Amino acid sequence: MAGRIQVLQPFVANQIAAGEVVERPASLVKELVENSLDAGARSVRLETELGGMKRVLVSDDGEGIDAADLPLAVARHATSKISGPDDLVGIGSLGFRGEALASVASVARLTITSATAEAAHGTRLEVDGPGDVHIGPAAHPRGTTVEVRDLFFNTPARRKFLKTERTEQSQVDQVLRRISLCRFDVAFELRHGGTRSVLSLPAGDPELRLARVIGEAFVKRSVALDETRGELRLWGWVGLPTYSRSQADQQYFYVNGRVVRDKLVAHAVRQAYRDVLFGGRQPVFSLYLELPADAVDVNVHPTKHEVRFREARSVHDFIFGTLARALREVRPDAVAAPVAGEAAATGSRGSWTQGRQAGLGLPHAVQDRPFPPAPRSLQEAFAEHGAPITVTESDQPIPPLGYAVAQLHGVYILAQNADGLVVVDVHAAHERVTYEKLKRQMDTEGVPQQRLLVPVPVSVSARDADLLEQFEDVVSATGLSLDRSGTQSLMVRAVPALLAGANAEELVRDVLADLAELGSSEQVRNRQHDLLATMACHGSVRANRELTLAEMNALLREMEVTDNAGQCNHGRPTYMVQSMAELDRLFLRGQ
Ligand code: ADP
Ligand code: MG
Repeated sequence: MAGRIQVLQPFVANQIAAGEVVERPASLVKELVENSLDAGARSVRLETELGGMKRVLVSDDGEGIDAADLPLAVARHATSKISGPDDLVGIGSLGFRGEALASVASVARLTITSATAEAAHGTRLEVDGPGDVHIGPAAHPRGTTVEVRDLFFNTPARRKFLKTERTEQSQVDQVLRRISLCRFDVAFELRHGGTRSVLSLPAGDPELRLARVIGEAFVKRSVALDETRGELRLWGWVGLPTYSRSQADQQYFYVNGRVVRDKLVAHAVRQAYRDVLFGGRQPVFSLYLELPADAVDVNVHPTKHEVRFREARSVHDFIFGTLARALREVRPDAVAAPVAGEAAATGSRGSWTQGRQAGLGLPHAVQDRPFPPAPRSLQEAFAEHGAPITVTESDQPIPPLGYAVAQLHGVYILAQNADGLVVVDVHAAHERVTYEKLKRQMDTEGVPQQRLLVPVPVSVSARDADLLEQFEDVVSATGLSLDRSGTQSLMVRAVPALLAGANAEELVRDVLADLAELGSSEQVRNRQHDLLATMACHGSVRANRELTLAEMNALLREMEVTDNAGQCNHGRPTYMVQSMAELDRLFLRGQ
């Protein structure tokens, strides 16, 4: 049988390519807005209906498309941005593959209206399907308006992959936000379904834009940096470790003005934060890497989100070094601030042991040991602190974690048990205890709330506020009660009773960050636990709080009866034990 291989019709080939370039309304928006930026636009307006599934319109004041070029704009592999293989080295524009408009035209109804400065009038091109192309004069100021209707109307298989209006819309928002953070000189505006403007970003002031896109609090709690080494420059804003989030949803990185999600970059950033940010926490940043165009290959993938650096190692080290230095410099203020308990404890543990290895085997009590020969020092300590508890008689069993003797620098409890010295990280321990309590409580009776006498206002991004409405029941099950009081503001009316003393604003921020990742309703329970963990972390005793011996002992007793008491919710150890024998070795006693 001969002649089975055929060259695909261009239209079919375009539909296949569209699978890579136009996956959903958000990817469409990315392509159209990037085209506007490549055309030198100073102002870009975006409108969507039904999350972009019904309609996306992008209008700009860029250089426009010549009437004669208009049919070519929608032809595959037709581009004005490069002309030969040499141009692929050192691409300065965002687009260059000439695929986007051709792809869009194959999976949606496309209208392009455009006028150049020289043209006497504008021109409109309409594509409704293969061969169904109309072109004619139309009024349009200098610039281009691209309208895309009924995305995937002719490709039902792809249409099935679209999510709810809300999800699609929020992805569209996110794409525009992301792009807007690398072009402070261009104004952006977004409207949904003919409503009021939901995002209005005037050109000019970077801090105003950061505030609108990431949030006011970020602007206040971040540091600006700008460093150049040889041909590399890194500048931007990095959030203080105290402004961290539980999700990596506010991390913006640009390479030569291009939105990039790159493993090497992510690794360098993570490394830099490792010393100051604890395991599960995620930094917030907007960073701009600039390097010669020929030192980076952007033609790695059709969506151009990945890049390849010619000198990968030195780029990595430069990003890491610059960030680590910037973070070190802010350290005294930033890390000692309220969230000190979240700074990672690094360094060697020496001969310190914990939990089961130490033979403590919590929660089993060490009941058969005599009280070690030091009740006097305990009593002295109690006398000095005016401790309200009585020392156990020497023939009584000593609880596994012993009795508190003192608090060290507001961070650790020092306690004495049958084996020797116990050191407890107050914040980590309290976090675990609170989390387990919240979980038990939620499972049995729901979480009791404490209404706030004065509701606490919290300003958030519109996207976060939407999330909150969307997941109202998940949130209320955690005991938090929030109202939306404006497009970008919330009111906290009640908090879980257990966390009555927590910082309500921080609590809300973290809960919202968690929700941003919330998938489907089956996950609700898991996620509620995650939310509780986040809340427990916030509600827990911060370092640098003076505790009475009674409070310390109460915490030790609670730890003994709490599941997983050996680690905080982030997996850090909550306590360590050094036995008398180990101490003796340390002091060379009896050798
Ligand atoms: P690419 O951006 O890779 O060149 P596209 O399919 O996105 O491919 O666009 C094809 C061509 O259409 C571009 O090279 C450009 O000449 C023109 N074009 C598209 N959008 C605009 C716009 N908003 N303003 C001016 N020209 C545009
Ligand atoms: Mg393009």
